[in-house]
Amino acid sequence: MNYPKEFENLIDSFRRLPGIGYKSAERMAYQMLEMKEEYREKFIESLQNITHLKKCDVCHNLSSDDKCEICSDLNRDTSLICVVQSIKDVFAIEKSNSYNGVYHVLDGVISVKNGKLPEDLNIDSLLNRLDGVKEVIVATNPNLDGETTALFIAKLLEKRDVKVTRLAYGLPMGGNLEYSDDVTIMKSFENRKSF
Ligand SMILES: [Zn+2]
Repeated sequence: MNYPKEFENLIDSFRRLPGIGYKSAERMAYQMLEMKEEYREKFIESLQNITHLKKCDVCHNLSSDDKCEICSDLNRDTSLICVVQSIKDVFAIEKSNSYNGVYHVLDGVISVKNGKLPEDLNIDSLLNRLDGVKEVIVATNPNLDGETTALFIAKLLEKRDVKVTRLAYGLPMGGNLEYSDDVTIMKSFENRKSF
């Protein structure tokens, strides 16, 4: 006997998540079935609500409004822009409490392997928001693609009246900002270097 179609559809939905095979998806579907009604309602509501999320008009961070919480915060130092490759990095840095500037999310890095070109990234919007900016901190990951992207951005900004720095990772080459602990992130900001 096959599962009822509704249940099979739920399993299929879980299988779309990266790293989830049929067995895990099946287990998750059963857990949903057994979940208390009120939690399940909350779960459904949260899923529906993410369709209202957008990208910040200024920095491309995740946001409920046109402008994200960070860009709307008047206590932020807007003369400092930290360039990161993904939204997850914004949240990792925020969690470390070591930075009070604003961000710019590239949405990826230049990558030959993945066919990502500079025009696929949010680079133009970075160049368009440099008025009054004193320093751009490039915080792409310390691996081949991250370094390539950092150099590309440094080169682009060479003739602009802005200092460009790179995070001094206490991370090994090939490391990942998103998985770094707060102290490592704090140190990497303190020890950042000019290009
Ligand atoms: Zn923003």
